[in-house]
Amino acid sequence: MHKHVIYTLLFLIFCIASYFLSSIILSQIKQRHEHSLLLSRSEKTVQEKKQRELSIKTIMQDNRVPEDVQKTLLRAPSTQTFTMILALYLAYRNHIEEVYWDDEIQDFVLVLNGKRVALANGRLIFVERVLEDLLNYTPVMYPYRLSPLAEIYDSIPAVDETIHERLRSTDIQEALTMIEDVSDLIHVYFLGVKIRIHPLIKESLLLVNEEINALAARDKEIKKFLDSLQTISSYSNRKIKKSRNASLHSFGMAIDFLHPNYDYKSVYWQWTRVARPKVWRKLPFDDLWLIPQEIVSLFEGHGFLWGGKWSSYDTLHFEYRPEMIEYAKVRKRLLE
Ligand SMILES: [Zn+2]
Repeated sequence: MHKHVIYTLLFLIFCIASYFLSSIILSQIKQRHEHSLLLSRSEKTVQEKKQRELSIKTIMQDNRVPEDVQKTLLRAPSTQTFTMILALYLAYRNHIEEVYWDDEIQDFVLVLNGKRVALANGRLIFVERVLEDLLNYTPVMYPYRLSPLAEIYDSIPAVDETIHERLRSTDIQEALTMIEDVSDLIHVYFLGVKIRIHPLIKESLLLVNEEINALAARDKEIKKFLDSLQTISSYSNRKIKKSRNASLHSFGMAIDFLHPNYDYKSVYWQWTRVARPKVWRKLPFDDLWLIPQEIVSLFEGHGFLWGGKWSSYDTLHFEYRPEMIEYAKVRKRLLE
């Protein structure tokens, strides 16, 4: 009898230990897998390396990247660096005066309106800052996924609020927009609402407008959703430009969909943190107020990303980040 209990206990301990051991091994395998896909050139076999170089060249040719730019971009020390700089080039090619590899800081530099922005491993900060306070900044280029939220929600990590204690650079927006004050912005009608935006996003936003209207004309559910909105807002100087972590709203490059009560669901992690202190970090999917997937796709198609896919969720928010959409596309092609 006594022996029987001991055996059962030993068996239980064995089960628990193997569970932990296998999850550690699995997570290590996963990490190594991601690492080898993205970062390391040296660990690749010759054949895999050739294959990747071929797809890199094809992607550049498909996107009509000029020969001299191709040569510059191929100086990237890793696939990840290459993917980021190519995405930036594709997103802002009409605004980039020059892209070059800077031997002194060992990094890519983009020149926009005479201002020099360094890649800094996705931090996108002015060259001057690279030497001063590079490590105070957190990357603003990270893997954004184009799949519908319902498909990827479970794999999105819970909110890590410590990220928000670090600096997030808006130097590239500053260089792109050269915005001095609100008089640099223009008014447009978006879904029937007069909003203030930066001229840089006008063309893309008006295309989104056209496509959403066409969709609403043939889809009753979309029409119903749009009718339920209270208003749409864009420019807001809620965080003063050049201050820590300015929002893209202060550049006229972000759009919010406002709803009278959000159907009593959650939209923004900072509000939910107060309202639902136990569960705010990772809500059940059904507790989120969502913007219809068809509308999200139309925004993404014109260079806007949706805050609903952020781990620090902001489901009413879109912002103009065409480099992130290009980054997602190039990454997808290279990882396929
Ligand atoms: Zn917003």
